[in-house]
Amino acid sequence: MPDLQHDDDQDRTDIGHGHAISWYTRGPDETRVGVLIWHRALDTGDDATEHAGGVYFDVPESVGLTGARWQLVSLDPLHIEPSVLCSCGDHGFIRDGHWIPA
Ligand SMILES: [Zn+2]
Repeated sequence: MPDLQHDDDQDRTDIGHGHAISWYTRGPDETRVGVLIWHRALDTGDDATEHAGGVYFDVPESVGLTGARWQLVSLDPLHIEPSVLCSCGDHGFIRDGHWIPA
């Protein structure tokens, strides 16, 4: 999707429990349409491997993007539902701007 932009990797926000987020944005106003969730991979046995799992919000601006949608309850502080589960087993909620392990 050519108009989908992603924040620079340096522009992450710590949300606790070893998790950080950065934004997917779209359009000239850089509307936030999703979030990348950075975390240490749980299935590699080392502390160096990092995962970035992305989800899109169920907002009108995400039309046309391929992938599942999460309900955007609040953008600031970020709250999405339901929980987010990575292929490595990392599982939790983002509520009130914080990572809450499931
Ligand atoms: Zn993972």
